[in-house]
Amino acid sequence: MNKVAFITGATRGIGKQIAITLAKNGCDIAINYRTQNEELETTKKEIEELNVKCFTVQGDVSSFEDCEKMIKEIIEEFGKIDILVNNAGITKDTLLMRMKPEDFEAVIDVNLVGTFNVTKNVIPYMLKQKNGRIINISSVVGISGNAGQTNYSASKAGIIGFTKSLAKEVASRNILVNAVAPGFIETKMTEILKDDVKEEINKTIPLKRIGTPQDVANVVKFLSSEDSSYITGQIIKVDGGMLI
Ligand code: NAP
Repeated sequence: MNKVAFITGATRGIGKQIAITLAKNGCDIAINYRTQNEELETTKKEIEELNVKCFTVQGDVSSFEDCEKMIKEIIEEFGKIDILVNNAGITKDTLLMRMKPEDFEAVIDVNLVGTFNVTKNVIPYMLKQKNGRIINISSVVGISGNAGQTNYSASKAGIIGFTKSLAKEVASRNILVNAVAPGFIETKMTEILKDDVKEEINKTIPLKRIGTPQDVANVVKFLSSEDSSYITGQIIKVDGGMLI
């Protein structure tokens, strides 16, 4: 029986690459999307071409009710969730002076509360099966901070605390909880940055290149495999050495 992996926000970018990489590794895939669009159909098709199942669930991770509904649907379809990847995330960057309360709340609600909402609904099944992997997508700015991202870096630092605490709570049930902290990765989230800003960022990366979604997906694959069975509560940076 194939392992079942659930990835949130997986219609494009890092989430999509994680879904495809785990599918190539033989997992059946459940992907969450918020907005119905062409990207969803393309991703589903690409996964099914790898001869595994792809089940899609609509929902906003910042809504607890949506998460309850999504997890129920996945359990009805597959009967289990072996691997959970909390990937859905947003930015609303601006200096604190200009940040509206709703911009702060929206980012915390999707990135941090969303991670809680999904995990809270998945964990009873993992506890019952005494097995599971949870991989949360944080960010290097959750460790270092970044001007213009008080909301985002607070949410990503929160995910680090969440990861370490949950790892301690569920280790005795053979559930491993880790986080990946990407640096600067080429996706829709970062394409809004101007070329000169990208060049400046590039100069701070010892490996002298911007990361790809595949760079992140490779580490998620490792953290969901038997090769990482003695690793929990860790935050693995995937940043080309940006934050050494
Ligand atoms: P992206 O291309 O913007 O993709 C984000 C995905 O999350 C989209 O599929 C989006 O779907 C989904 N999403 C957003 N809000 C959602 C919600 N409330 N409920 C369900 N899905 C939602 O971004 P990305 O670069 O791939 O980022 C993926 C993760 O990596 C995020 O957590 C991000 O913070 C983290 N990260 C990225 C970088 C980077 O440099 N790119 C660096 C560090 C960490 P909709 O369009 O339908 O909302």
